[in-house]
Parts: sequence; C-alpha cells; structure tokens
Amino acid sequence: MQEMLITGRGGEGVVLASQLLADTFARGGFYVQSFPEFKAERRGAPLSAFLRWDDEPIRRRYKLRECDVLMSISPSPPPARAVATLRPGGLLLVNRETRFPHCGDWHVAHVPGSGIARRHGILSAEGRPMGNVAVLGAAVKLLLPDGLEFLEQAIRSRMGAKIAEPNVVAAQEGYRLCARQHTVATDSSYEPEPAVARPPLPVFSASFMDTRVNNTGSWSLERPALLAACNVCGLCALFCPEGAMRREDGTMVIDFDHCKGCGICEDVCPVQNAITMEEVLV
Ligand code: SF4
Ligand code: SF4
Repeated sequence: MQEMLITGRGGEGVVLASQLLADTFARGGFYVQSFPEFKAERRGAPLSAFLRWDDEPIRRRYKLRECDVLMSISPSPPPARAVATLRPGGLLLVNRETRFPHCGDWHVAHVPGSGIARRHGILSAEGRPMGNVAVLGAAVKLLLPDGLEFLEQAIRSRMGAKIAEPNVVAAQEGYRLCARQHTVATDSSYEPEPAVARPPLPVFSASFMDTRVNNTGSWSLERPALLAACNVCGLCALFCPEGAMRREDGTMVIDFDHCKGCGICEDVCPVQNAITMEEVLV
C-alpha cells in the first residue's frame, strides 16, 4: 500500500486534489481511500488530505502518521513537520518554479503548478492561481505514468466543461513540466520547526490549537442554551468540535468566544428539554 499526505491551505483545492487523484487511481484499477483533515474552517488555514492506494482492499482507517509521498499544493514551502513524516526513500513533490534546495532521505520533484495555473487563467475568486490540478499532473507522471488519461477523465467527470478544459490542459502541462531533482552540494537538510509551548488542554478539548488562536464564536448564527432538564452528564462536551463546553462545579459551562453554533451538542444530547439552539441577534 502507498500512502500520500497532501498539504496546502484552505481555498487552494487540497481536498479536491485528493479526490481527483483517488478517482484517477481508481480508474487505473487500484483500491483507494481519501479523506481530508480540517482544523478551524477558514480560507488560508493549513489543511491536509490523505490518500491511500493499493491493489488490494484497504483495511486501514486512521489518519496517516507516515507517508510514502508528500505533495505540497501551496507554492509556499511544505511544513517541516509534514516533511518529517516522509518514510526513507519517499517522494516529496512541491509546487515550485525552481528546485527545492533541501535534501533528506527522500527524493524531490518540483512542478511550476501556480505558474501553469496563471497561464491558463485558473484562478480563485480572489485572483490567486490554483495550482492544484497542475501539481496532480506531475503526481500522475511520477506515480502512475500511464494514468494521465485517467486524470483527464476524473477532471471532466468532476468539473463542468468550461472549467474542465483549462484544468485538463494544466494537468497535461504539469505532467510534462514536472522535474525530478538530483541532490547538489549546496542542498541543506530541512529541519522540523522547534517545538512551541502550548497552553494546557482544557477538559474535553477537541481542537485545542485552533480554538485558542481563532475566536470562532464570532461566526455563530445560533448558540446553545442549557435548559432545566440538563443532568450535566457531559456528553455534549465530548462531541463539541471546538472544545467549547465543559463541566465545572456541577454545571455545564459554554465558552461563547469559541462556540461556532454548529448544534452538535443539541443533536447528541439524549435528554429531552436539556439544551436548545437559539438565534444570535446581531
Ligand atoms: S446538555 Fe444534554 S448532553 Fe449536555 S450535559 Fe446536559 S444532558 Fe448531558
Ligand atoms: S454549538 Fe455546541 S457543539 Fe457546536 S461549538 Fe457550540 S457548544 Fe460546541
């Protein structure tokens, strides 16, 4: 089985890339598995997606801890922590015009994904080049050299004709312009970032870094209100994706700075008239 980690930022088409590549491998006769990992949902937030493919059914169901291939969709350098997950002998594919001046116990290839996207007018709503499909063309060249046609089919089946055609051309160009690197004497190792001190975890926290940094409560259109029947069992806190509920001094406390109003707490509560969602008046 081969495992791939795809990194990028919200709005760069990371999830779409993982799905298109999964479709490509499936059309090539492989069993595939693809799923994204989101933290705080916002454009520009670091996010990753995982892809597994094998010629036998895939039994693993957990997120990747190590990978054979790391594909960076962003034109910015890949996170060093992600590079550290590459297995010895693995492949690092980066979206860069020029060579990636680092080396390790892995192979490196680069493709000018953003430049290709810019040339073909594949831009985000904000006008940024979307290099994801061009990078996929490179990935197919490196991993499934006979699979460009499958990638083109995947793109056409996923996108409307008007959007699909420039993306097909970008994929073909990514396939053609992808370059494998040789290590040179000036290449340096790519060190993981130094560990940062993190605040202690609150009880039941599910996504501690992001909720500390992002005031997600300001997005809420609704918020939970606890009612008299709440028996303080704490189940809702276990499911809260923002770690915004906790049990304290025999009562449930809601952190409205971070509650994003998803309503999961209301959905999972097994007790009638214990919690309800209310509209936030702005
Ligand atoms: S709201 Fe429901 S799930 Fe949450 S503590 Fe109260 S009874 Fe339990
Ligand atoms: S609505 Fe409930 S589950 Fe969702 S973030 Fe707020 S407290 Fe957590």
